[in-house]
Amino acid sequence: METIGLFGGTFDPIHLGHLRAAAEVRRRTRLARILFIPSYLPPHKTPGTAASPADRLRMVELACRRRAGFEASPLEVDAGEKSYSILTLRKVRALAPRARLFFILGGDAFLDIGPWREYEKVLRERFFIVTGRPGFDLERAREVLGGRLRDDIGPLASPGSLSGTAPPPTRVVLLPIRALDVSSTKIRAKVRRGEPVEGLVPRAVAAYIREHRLYRGRQEP
Ligand code: ATP
Repeated sequence: METIGLFGGTFDPIHLGHLRAAAEVRRRTRLARILFIPSYLPPHKTPGTAASPADRLRMVELACRRRAGFEASPLEVDAGEKSYSILTLRKVRALAPRARLFFILGGDAFLDIGPWREYEKVLRERFFIVTGRPGFDLERAREVLGGRLRDDIGPLASPGSLSGTAPPPTRVVLLPIRALDVSSTKIRAKVRRGEPVEGLVPRAVAAYIREHRLYRGRQEP
């Protein structure tokens, strides 16, 4: 059975923290591929502080180039309006009807799942891989939705165990990773201060930021 990880985010911009997390997830779970799905967000109120959806998608494409098993997905950007995970899921499902789909999220993003549209349904029907992030104790993820999901959260049984034909024993798999202490917020702040961001984002992304003069606005709102 084909296994696909769906890694959504603002990716404003995509950075080596995202890529390291996805690479570790793929190595440990042996998912066949990971789709990076930048969200659509309406153009920013303060010009120059955030990149357009098209620029964010382009940077994700550049980052996925020559990284085996990583793909950029235009699904949400092309929708041209705020997309809900449940709708994205249905679109991916239509493209890959037989695949087993996993949402990949950092623990911080997972704790924030309450406001997702039809989140109960998403949680019932889909699998999740929740990763750590510097400064975030992954065990906190067990408290999501007031601890209601505790029985459905567990560790990765063994390397590669998500890629077999049998579904994983728990819907939510906690996967501790050696995460990098990088965030898009820090990168935007560095660009604004005129500091180099090589070493925090792929080289092609750093060049794109420079060429397109992204994140040069005075400050974030
Ligand atoms: P911002 O600083 O603008 O809030 P961000 O760096 O948190 O951005 P997002 O695009 O919001 O990036 O994150 C997308 C997903 O990637 C989320 O699930 C988030 O938890 C995860 N993530 C972000 N940075 C890291 C990191 N350094 N290590 C592991 N996971 C990360």
